[in-house]
Amino acid sequence: MFENPGKLPLTEIGEFGLIDRIKESVTIHHAATLRGIGDDAAVTDPGNRKVVITTDLLTEGIHFDISYVPLKHLGYKAVAVNLSDIYAMNAVPEQITVSLAISSKYTLEAIEELYSGINLACSNYKIDLIGGDTTSSAKGLVISVTAIGYADEKDLVYRDGAKEKDLICVSGNVGAAYAGLQLLEREKKIFLENPNVQPDLEGHDYVLERQLKPEPRADIVRLLKEQGVKPTSMIDISDGLASEILHLCKQSDTGCRIMANKLPIDQGTFAVAEELNLPAYTMALNGGEDYELLFTVSSSDYDKLLNIPDVSIIGFMTERSLGHNLLDDQNNAVPLYAQGWDSFLRKD
Ligand code: ADP
Ligand code: MG
Repeated sequence: MFENPGKLPLTEIGEFGLIDRIKESVTIHHAATLRGIGDDAAVTDPGNRKVVITTDLLTEGIHFDISYVPLKHLGYKAVAVNLSDIYAMNAVPEQITVSLAISSKYTLEAIEELYSGINLACSNYKIDLIGGDTTSSAKGLVISVTAIGYADEKDLVYRDGAKEKDLICVSGNVGAAYAGLQLLEREKKIFLENPNVQPDLEGHDYVLERQLKPEPRADIVRLLKEQGVKPTSMIDISDGLASEILHLCKQSDTGCRIMANKLPIDQGTFAVAEELNLPAYTMALNGGEDYELLFTVSSSDYDKLLNIPDVSIIGFMTERSLGHNLLDDQNNAVPLYAQGWDSFLRKD
């Protein structure tokens, strides 16, 4: 299990000392960033593009468990999940702000570790860190990230544009992040019962990485554009595939038919399902935190879609009155639910 590195209390350098360190660590990539950290507010220039804004709040003990999440990964993920929301609008993120409430157990080195992850995500996705706020908290760490992106108005994709007969597509694979979480929770439980037992996470690198260091699908947004495919609706998968499909259907006023045997599930996820005796298809449908893109396209775009790697067609939209159906592996149509049996209930 992990511990905060280093010992320098934040009280030694104070809020402004910390902000100075953060400012020094930042690189600016975009001409649209006119003013970043250091004034009363940041200034960006959208040109003739539309501005897309999203924010997420992460609370220690609710959204993350510092006993098994390394701070660098936490910083990376806090940025990644916000970028994912911008890409899900078919827009491109350029700036973020990061606000922190920090309890006294965190040292300067711990916060620098967090920022090393934030800065790595910013570097990988060409994002400018342009501001934030820093305060103390009575207990635990709270991280709020706001992302700002841009798109031409004609490119924006909402949740409500899907039509009957549109193809339902998903990038990458689903269920792996949940598999990773189950392994980490198992090891934590064993560690708490017997701190001398070494974690047994061998051979599970892929699903652990999916949980700890998700990558937002900037590449899919770019490839769709290159192929001239504009999705009719889109959402990113944070809560689980089934839940997100139901959001698209509700907002687009459609029904859907999903084929279980088309769901993209990685070998690593199947391996964890077997090891922990969990149902792989349920993990894929309800697991969450995959940060893949779920989108619909007109069936006339089918040929172009085939040129985009790492996208699976998992079903199609129907008339609303036909409901939400899952064709299971025996070819029986069963109702599709955003399932919430206890072990799947997330803590928020
Ligand atoms: P104010 O008192 O006007 O809120 P602050 O002293 O809080 O100003 O912030 C000074 C500058 O540092 C601002 O540009 C702010 O956006 C930035 N900043 C503060 N905290 C953070 C942080 N955690 N990460 C990045 N930038 C920050
Ligand atoms: Mg402030």
